[in-house]
Amino acid sequence: MNIEKLICTEIEFDNKKYKVTGVNFEKDNIILNVEEIKEEKTTENESIKPVYSFSQTSLDKMSKVHPKLIEVMKEAIKNSPFDFRITDGARTAEEQFALYQKGRTKPGPKVTNCDGYKAKSNHQIKSDGYGHAVDIFPCGIEENGEYRKFTSEEGYDDKKLKIISEHILKIAKERGANVEWGGNWKMHDTPHFEIK
Ligand SMILES: [Zn+2]
Repeated sequence: MNIEKLICTEIEFDNKKYKVTGVNFEKDNIILNVEEIKEEKTTENESIKPVYSFSQTSLDKMSKVHPKLIEVMKEAIKNSPFDFRITDGARTAEEQFALYQKGRTKPGPKVTNCDGYKAKSNHQIKSDGYGHAVDIFPCGIEENGEYRKFTSEEGYDDKKLKIISEHILKIAKERGANVEWGGNWKMHDTPHFEIK
């Protein structure tokens, strides 16, 4: 007996999928020749699965940041080479001035040359209503299925920040966002990213 048309070519049995490769008829029985379909998990699919995501604190820090820069950061965190958090987003002139005092009238090293008034930082809210910069801190890594948190010293490491910056700048480029990394500037500011 010949089959005119084979309509179904796959069957599921015992949680396995089979491809029907032939059919035989023996008396009243239909015997299917099958091959198991093995569903392969490709490494490509695995790499698409997000590894990291922002905490609410990081999201709150970006609340007044340019939406395009937020979009880039939210995409970048998913498969970043290291986990990172947002330590600073938009600042008022007063907040910028307070930072400017560090290493001047307040203890500690200088962290900025922008006083918030004469020299404005790109963290400050611009005429479009948004701050155009964020600072990040590499805070950990997922290794062999386990999460390891970085110490402050491990996190503020220029090498790690450079690796993350390459990842962020690539995503920014794909999305048509003109993002700059502070690590490429004369006054090296490796945790800093800003949108033009
Ligand atoms: Zn900054």
